[in-house]
Amino acid sequence: MRDNQSWGQYPLATDQTLYPFSNRFSLLPKVSASLLPRGLGRSYGDSCLNDHGVLLSSTGLNRYIDFNQETGVLCCEAGVSFDEILQLAVPRGWFLPVTPGTKFITVGGAIANDIHGKNHHIAGNFGHHVSRFEILRSSGERLICSRNENSDLFYATIGGLGLTGFITWVEFNLTKIDSSWIDQEQIQFHSLSEFFEIAAESETGYEYTVAWVDCVSSEKDIRGIFIRGNFAKPQATENYKVHKLTSLKNIPVYFPEITLNKFSIRAFNELYFRKNITPRKKNLVHYEPFFYPLDAIHNWNRIYGKRGFLQYQFVVPYKNDSGAAVQKIIQLLNKSQMGSFLAVLKTFGNVPSEGMMSFPKEGVTLALDFANYGEDLYQVLEECDAIVRSAGGAVYPAKDARMSKESFSAFYPQRKSFEQFIDPQFSSSFWRRVR
Ligand SMILES: Cc1cc2nc3c(=O)[nH]c(=O)nc-3n(C[C@H](O)[C@H](O)[C@H](O)COP(=O)(O)OP(=O)(O)OC[C@H]3O[C@@H](n4cnc5c(N)ncnc54)[C@H](O)[C@@H]3O)c2cc1C
Repeated sequence: MRDNQSWGQYPLATDQTLYPFSNRFSLLPKVSASLLPRGLGRSYGDSCLNDHGVLLSSTGLNRYIDFNQETGVLCCEAGVSFDEILQLAVPRGWFLPVTPGTKFITVGGAIANDIHGKNHHIAGNFGHHVSRFEILRSSGERLICSRNENSDLFYATIGGLGLTGFITWVEFNLTKIDSSWIDQEQIQFHSLSEFFEIAAESETGYEYTVAWVDCVSSEKDIRGIFIRGNFAKPQATENYKVHKLTSLKNIPVYFPEITLNKFSIRAFNELYFRKNITPRKKNLVHYEPFFYPLDAIHNWNRIYGKRGFLQYQFVVPYKNDSGAAVQKIIQLLNKSQMGSFLAVLKTFGNVPSEGMMSFPKEGVTLALDFANYGEDLYQVLEECDAIVRSAGGAVYPAKDARMSKESFSAFYPQRKSFEQFIDPQFSSSFWRRVR
């Protein structure tokens, strides 16, 4: 049984103690070991791990404090999950302002990684929608943080990797919706430049955009499916063919390591591309498969086997010819035969991140999943880091298991000024690795 590891199951932490924190009025435990808040462990690498330390589990902090149905302002404890919020909000005509590709995360986790979603070009990050929160420090001090009160700590905590203290409750704004369905359009593209054209054309008319990319096809350039959509108007939900919601499936055991190899990865990508055979397809889909296709399969991370898997997500700014950097990285991965099972490409808009250490910046971001091939993979990803560095980009800590100190300092030069906001008793396996 693997308890309290990260979603990627690599690296594996040892000697962690879990401290269930369920009363927001109590103090942090008096221990000599280092402390790290923990949500639902949906980060991939080691930013949610604390070797030889204590994980302060927030999942017992799952109460709503206030909800204004007129304005959509929600105040809740930090361990409330996005799944729970959707159950409360959607029937009342509200939705999460920003959501990642899984609803099994907590509000505290969303702040600590300042998460982004398919609507980044319009809505920015989750932190943009947060008005206030409370931070509990190891000294026993409680601080209300907002843009006007303890603002330095507010901006350090958004994207602050759980290191500035324990968030007990959060107030943020939900977004209004007319239905729980999405008017979706899927468009095939056969090159990176075609992707950029469709992305630019979709920026104003579509709230949600993302692309699935086949990086392992034998075609010269990349190919993929661009997906864009908006919440549907109520009348549309009556006229369109509706998507059938699928029941939850479970992967009960780890798959053998041979299941995912370059042949099965290529076959999967080929099949996925052909499934969407028409160049353009419009339909109406429920928000669940649109935002959370992987949530339909519980424990899907087990398909990568017991050695776990890595996700590599980077952003490169437009100004430095982001297309060239993306192209170079894909070519490098192809040459080294490191096939990515799942690759997602998206443009980030020009809403500047507010968090001191937040990952998103205007440009293009690519996220790639890899089975844990070991040293060969780490070596190639090191080379990818060099490309991202020279393009002025960054790698996402929430998904990282291996970047070097040097790369981290280059991606996040502000880390020095961030250090003054770290709670002296807080640390993580990730932080000790990159500091
Ligand atoms: C299938 C899948 C898809 C994803 N898609 C996206 C995506 O599209 N965009 C994106 O940005 N991310 C994405 N992610 C990553 C995920 O959204 C983040 O890693 C998120 O932070 C996980 O939240 P969590 O509650 O599981 O927190 P954990 O993973 O447990 O912890 C994450 C961080 O939050 C801190 N933290 C947790 N609770 C608190 C608290 N109460 N106070 C202070 N700090 C706290 C932890 O210390 C840690 O640093 C995806 C992950 C998966 C598995």
